[in-house]
Amino acid sequence: DSQLNPDYTFANFIEGDCNRLARSAGWAVSENPGGTAFNPLVLYGDSGLGKTHLAQSIGLKAKELHPEKTVLYVSSQKFQTQFTEAIRNNNKNDFLHFYQMIDILIIDDIQELAGKEKTQNTFFHIFNHLHQSGKQLILTSDKAPIELKGMENRLLSRFKWGLSADLQNPDYETRVRILQQKAYKDGIILENDVIEYIATHVINNVRELEGALISLLAQSTLNKKELNLELAVEIIDKLVKNTKREISIDYIQKIVCDHFNMPVDLLQAKTRKREIVQARQIAMYFSKSMTKASLSTIGSQIGKKDHATVLHACKTVNNLIDTDRAFKTQIDEINKKLKM
Ligand code: ADP
Ligand code: MG
Repeated sequence: DSQLNPDYTFANFIEGDCNRLARSAGWAVSENPGGTAFNPLVLYGDSGLGKTHLAQSIGLKAKELHPEKTVLYVSSQKFQTQFTEAIRNNNKNDFLHFYQMIDILIIDDIQELAGKEKTQNTFFHIFNHLHQSGKQLILTSDKAPIELKGMENRLLSRFKWGLSADLQNPDYETRVRILQQKAYKDGIILENDVIEYIATHVINNVRELEGALISLLAQSTLNKKELNLELAVEIIDKLVKNTKREISIDYIQKIVCDHFNMPVDLLQAKTRKREIVQARQIAMYFSKSMTKASLSTIGSQIGKKDHATVLHACKTVNNLIDTDRAFKTQIDEINKKLKM
């Protein structure tokens, strides 16, 4: 049994700018497992953006196209538990042997192996064996391999052998298409104004988007209310207020730009103008300290920069806070506005 969820198919995975590279690399891997340069394929991104779904789609498609191959999906937690049990029962070799027989191995949330040296060590041997025999590895992680802490360097360097592709938060249009698809799948007709309302207000990740739709459907069925804009406004506003307001990168950019009285799209402009560079650095600094987003996610959302630029921005801002009183005052003020 491959432990794959049959709902997590490519057909159910909406494509957008946020996931195009990861999706097409995944598709290529499922057509030709072990035979592309994408080995391992590492899918990374924040929680709720589709890593598990996409990793499983690859497994399902590969099974369909190559029924003779063995596919296994396993969470890092389960892998860890199985390993501990194998050690306790003195059959580590069976454990190794089992994993070394797999043709397409999907391990979800590898960041959870952080600090687990013995498990990492065993995984290292499994990885080498599979990779050398032309078998496919697909890994997911909430951070880019370069940002993973508590992982052995020799493992991290192997993660970089293949392709690391990130999943980002979908934009408005992709959110609309995801909602349309979910509603269609559930056999429900949603008016455009309802879909637009949800897509405008539920913006953090796909899991929340789905959650919002589910609450809306539940309320309308339970209370026999018509599924219209009025109900959507009522339900969604409650939801948005209740999710302990998580400060988003978009929100930080808006507050920083308001503070410096500049239009928010200037942060995306390709310019070295001092004020803009500094506003961008400040937005990056707050995104790093106030959100759980990875450096590369922050960079790509603020001016399409890479993770090194974000790291540099955080250092620069920290230095200025220590050395420049006027600058520190500005930072304190922005901090206050963000927490209002
Ligand atoms: P992650 O593993 O990154 O935390 P999941 O793969 O569990 O995220 O995705 C969360 C939910 O959002 C799942 O129900 C998944 O089906 C859905 N989802 C994520 N991305 C998409 C997408 N592009 N199209 C359709 N549904 C998606
Ligand atoms: Mg997941």
